Amino acid sequence: MSLQMDITFSCECGEHVEEIVYVQDPEFSAEKNKDSQTDSWQEVICHSCDKEYIVQVTNTLYGAMASIDYGEVDVNYGMPYYPKDETDELYWYIESKTHHEILQNHLKSVRTLLEVDVPVDTLFSLWVMIHGHVVSAIEGYLAGVFIHKVTNSEELTKKLVETDPEFSKRTFSLKEIFEKHSNLKITVATYLKELIFHDLKKVKPMFKDILGHDFGDISWLFKDVVKRHDCVHRAGYNKEGEAIDVSKQSILDLLDKVEGLAASVEATVIQLEEPDDLPF
Ligand SMILES: [Zn+2]
Repeated sequence: MSLQMDITFSCECGEHVEEIVYVQDPEFSAEKNKDSQTDSWQEVICHSCDKEYIVQVTNTLYGAMASIDYGEVDVNYGMPYYPKDETDELYWYIESKTHHEILQNHLKSVRTLLEVDVPVDTLFSLWVMIHGHVVSAIEGYLAGVFIHKVTNSEELTKKLVETDPEFSKRTFSLKEIFEKHSNLKITVATYLKELIFHDLKKVKPMFKDILGHDFGDISWLFKDVVKRHDCVHRAGYNKEGEAIDVSKQSILDLLDKVEGLAASVEATVIQLEEPDDLPF
């Protein structure tokens, strides 16, 4: 997913040039705000006289700007935005209230698949696929619930921005945040989705700090995530070339734990108010 930005400028031939340029994400993980800066250079050609211009797009956690030929040419630029078709998935995370239902449907299908009659020498492959699927389903659920709850609540967004180590490095003010609220939803959703799908360990403290929900001991989930890696990348074999420990029983156990985790999340998180749930 990449941000883009509309720019306009006047060519020396008099032509009014309008272009869309790409904007790199800032370094979300930068230790200091100034280290978050990313730059990209793109060529823009005037269609009237074929003159080439170099557009430099600079993005930081504060915001993005464009300059042409190192400031030689005045350029107007807008706010960076995500192309609508690329944000559909993020809007789904933000707007959908059916994450638990989707998880339950996945788990129900998995229980059915476990009973399917397949040749014995195919069972291992089936279990490997199912293990990966169940772990992805719980990740998707946790990401969905968290993103939906946080992006639909100013209070929770504020809490995230203030307490999350990545966001709290950003020095933008709350006023700025709510001025660019719709963009902020996408920024927050993008950040959270990346984080949750790549570093599940951060999810436990995030649920606790922001949503007030403690998962308890989920060391099993981290082990199952590692196992999923072996499922997805080496079709069920670890780096040493040994078949991983997966069976119908290990998947049934995983299903129970996943259902329990989701049920505990639902019991706590469902009570958090959402502005659009209010009865007026
Ligand atoms: Zn021109």
